[in-house]
Amino acid sequence: MNRTRLQGRLAQLAAQHLQRRRRTVAPLAGGAAEVLVDGRRLVNFCGNDYLGLKAHPALAAALARCAAASGSGSGASHLVTGHGLEHERLEGELAAFTGRSRALLFSTGYMANLAAVTCLAGRDSRVVMDRLCHASLIDAARLSGARLQRFAHADAAAAAAALQRDAPAEDLLVTDGVFSMDGDLAPLDSLAQAAQAAGACLIVDDAHGLGVLGATGRGCLEHFGLQPAAVPILVGTLGKAFGCFGAFIAADEEYIEWLLQTARSYIYTTALPPPVAAAARAALGLSVAEGWRRERVLGLAARLRAGCAQTGVPLLPSIAPIQPVVLGSSVRALALSEQLFAAGFWIAAIRPPTVPRDSARLRITLSAAHTEQQVDALVEALARVLRSAPAEAC
Ligand code: PMP
Repeated sequence: MNRTRLQGRLAQLAAQHLQRRRRTVAPLAGGAAEVLVDGRRLVNFCGNDYLGLKAHPALAAALARCAAASGSGSGASHLVTGHGLEHERLEGELAAFTGRSRALLFSTGYMANLAAVTCLAGRDSRVVMDRLCHASLIDAARLSGARLQRFAHADAAAAAAALQRDAPAEDLLVTDGVFSMDGDLAPLDSLAQAAQAAGACLIVDDAHGLGVLGATGRGCLEHFGLQPAAVPILVGTLGKAFGCFGAFIAADEEYIEWLLQTARSYIYTTALPPPVAAAARAALGLSVAEGWRRERVLGLAARLRAGCAQTGVPLLPSIAPIQPVVLGSSVRALALSEQLFAAGFWIAAIRPPTVPRDSARLRITLSAAHTEQQVDALVEALARVLRSAPAEAC
């Protein structure tokens, strides 16, 4: 595309209220849930730091110790000389945490998802995927060359029907555990049954469930009481509840060995910096040792829901720390996000193509670092801005 066309396309995005804008965040000492943006102090209600670990001193100390000992970077890809002791230990701990024989580290969840799907599906395969799966899973299915069939959101019967339709192929059934923009859970128990009945391999991306859901934070599988065998491939990230960066796939030995041998997003990229792996180990340990963080963030989500129910703020059904308010038009979502910003709350407007057309929203997220007062103040502010900007006004 040439420059003139690009200018036209950019102008079009702006006219449709779909242009994204970055805001630069400055650190704020001691305020884990507060940030400085454009010189303003704001409560951050749209990050993924669910357990409040991102600014924990133990993570920073582990990172600094490791950097002092072994430098900042890994220096190469895992299969050349980049795989270090911290990576190896973290993989072992993630395997134990998820109850699997092995785990494989990736630099991002995006790359882990590319690997999970492209290594297990090819031109002769079919990928059956929830309609609201994360963009990286959709891209992965496209890249794999497999036939992609998307089923109605969280509809296990539709997934089962899709798997039964046509002659069975090398089928993958793919879903998020917790849906990132909706906060609801996939019906994993029914999906696991459907996959088993059809002989398909179930891949679950539990980026938003691990560390948060289940009696001990083992995520959606624990929430549904599922054994690892029901979900052969589990994808997790380290940049959300674990407050760091990076991702992993946890699975049985053969799957992991196959990924290690064939995943292009694993082989052809520099390994995660060892200090990041060291920080992630500290985070994983804290997430297990300090179960109160999980209870706290879920308690705050329940508090937000109770307040919103009382004040008439419509939230999507969700037990997770992701609590969206769907507003419809992008203009309305942007306007309300700006009003909340002015009132001291940072909640980004999430617009298409991240969410389906006409379902722009405020994606509110809770963190264990929030206080009850901050949550109550947000409820008040939400009720106020919604009253001042009824749907028909925008
Ligand atoms: N899966 C889901 C469900 C996500 O929400 C995200 C991040 N938004 C990813 C994968 C990608 O993870 P990462 O940010 O580590 O690339």
